[in-house]
Amino acid sequence: MSNISVKLPDGSARELEAGATVADLASSIGAGLARAALAGKVNGVLVDLSCALEDGAEVEIITKKSAEALDILRHSCAHVMAAAVQHVFGEVEFGIGPSIEDGFYYDMKLPRAISPDDFETIEAEMAKIIAADEQFVREGVTLDQAREIFAAQPLKLELIEEYAAEGRDLSIYRLGDFCDLCAGPHIPSAGKIASFKIMKTAGAYWRGDAENEMLTRLYGTAWFAKKDLEQYLFRIEEAEKRDHRKLGRDLGIYTMFEEAGPGLPLYLPAGARVIRLMQEWLRKELYRRGYEEVITPHIYKSDVWKTSGHYGFYKDNMYFFNINEGTEEEPRLSEFGVKPMNCPGHVLLYKNDIHSYREMPIRFFEFGTVYRHELSGAVHGLFRARGFTQDDAHVFCREDQVIDEIESIMDVVDLIMGTFDLEYHCEISTRPDESIGTDEMWEKAESFLRQALERRGVDYEINPKDGAFYGPKIDVKVKDSLGRTWQCSTIQVDFNLPERFDITYRTAENSEARPWMLHRAIFGSIERFLGILIEHTAGNLPLWLAPTQVEIIPIADRHLEYANEVAAQLRAAGGRVEVATQSEPMRAKIARAEARKVPYMLVVGDKEAENKQVSVREHSEGDKGMMDLDAFVKIIEDARV
Ligand SMILES: [Zn+2]
Ligand SMILES: [Zn+2]
Repeated sequence: MSNISVKLPDGSARELEAGATVADLASSIGAGLARAALAGKVNGVLVDLSCALEDGAEVEIITKKSAEALDILRHSCAHVMAAAVQHVFGEVEFGIGPSIEDGFYYDMKLPRAISPDDFETIEAEMAKIIAADEQFVREGVTLDQAREIFAAQPLKLELIEEYAAEGRDLSIYRLGDFCDLCAGPHIPSAGKIASFKIMKTAGAYWRGDAENEMLTRLYGTAWFAKKDLEQYLFRIEEAEKRDHRKLGRDLGIYTMFEEAGPGLPLYLPAGARVIRLMQEWLRKELYRRGYEEVITPHIYKSDVWKTSGHYGFYKDNMYFFNINEGTEEEPRLSEFGVKPMNCPGHVLLYKNDIHSYREMPIRFFEFGTVYRHELSGAVHGLFRARGFTQDDAHVFCREDQVIDEIESIMDVVDLIMGTFDLEYHCEISTRPDESIGTDEMWEKAESFLRQALERRGVDYEINPKDGAFYGPKIDVKVKDSLGRTWQCSTIQVDFNLPERFDITYRTAENSEARPWMLHRAIFGSIERFLGILIEHTAGNLPLWLAPTQVEIIPIADRHLEYANEVAAQLRAAGGRVEVATQSEPMRAKIARAEARKVPYMLVVGDKEAENKQVSVREHSEGDKGMMDLDAFVKIIEDARV
């Protein structure tokens, strides 16, 4: 028998008998790999273990460690779920069942409505299929065979005709008595599914088209280990509990009104307090680092947006309107645009003076509220709003200062992320297809970003072609306590705006040179960062940032006087304090303060008043015992921004 040779990912070659499959290859390498093998990747295409190999193929064995493995497992579990549904419901018309992030779904037409009570029955049936370790068996079929097999499945017939018209090969997968039209690949048998769960059901139009009939979409999830499923369920539960839209309401952070328009949060006193505290804290840090605060208009004539390039490149995200500068009889309309970014204002401020090489770098910062048009369907609480405030800054500097400046911006990134206990990683986004500027400038700018990160020993990934149209950038992505990743800070190197606005500085030789410009926002949107923080901390903001730091709880009405005295002392020390004056039991007052996640509750009664003390309760930790009032005042004083 003739032999074939295949190439492995490490570059080595392996001889196999002609007709050998991916599974045979795995066995030839080792019994452990044969057991772990789930599928194969042949010349970049995912295939079943049963796929026969051809001479010269490049082959990778897919195990649960491979990036593609969970998708294959989950899609396979969709077949298992469909088989179980068929067993439970009898006549079912099946649509499609792809894998999705964290799971899979299957769209189907059921003979009756499905309820969460059915989930258990279906899950029990799935467990049987998995326990029996039913095999996934692939068969290539002709168009006529497919038409016959799926004669009673109109949705599948529609797909079959479409695939055939596209010239695609048709294949089916059998799993016990269940047969599905599918291109694969699949895990070899159902027993590989270690844990799964049906999550929810929803209506879905066939093929996402509202003209079509509404099907039942059944969602599930599947994992290689039981503990992975447990962790996933915990994360979902926690994420729901921590949803900043829910906590934002409970904690009195913000509200929205239908009539005010989507994506436009209104900040309640507690929310406004927290946002101002974040700003005050950062303002001090930036002053210390040589930044100068500026204030620029919210609207500009379109001339500015034309010069900046926003009119050409960003118009769809902006709000424009006309103002009549003439009379009703003789209108003279001027078009204005609401700012989506603060950069043009800062460039105009730079232009206000003649600058020398000696004053560089010039660092302008602003808590700039900007408005961007987001689709009404895309807005989401504080995470995606139409109006928000950036901690925006622009640094104008000489070329020899660019790397140092990027490094000092990274110091601010470290400060902020460290303060909020957020891990982060960096990506450098490079030149997009649609961009302006010369190759030389792009290369230089990208190399500045790389050098700055390398000097600091910060690892980074390259995010190809994802830079802004005017320059490359560093994206800082933070990881929250639930393991979710959020894009926050950006640092951009720009050689385009200085040119468009024709800004210069005087060199040592008294000639004119073009400064470099860095754009950077570290929180990004302050409100969005607050949303992340609320979910990251489950609403337990640190003492220095909590909207109310202390709730004073008098045991009886006669202790109100001392309670007010304590409050006055704490307020004098800069504390944010409330006194629970409601006439209700102490237990109820404590419960209310706990629900609002107030860090400290001070219970005061006869003994406390007599000794100038307070009984301290810490949020979610309980009783901390008695403390002298002076000592507690010190705690609050130390938490001052
Ligand atoms: Zn399939
Ligand atoms: Zn900017």
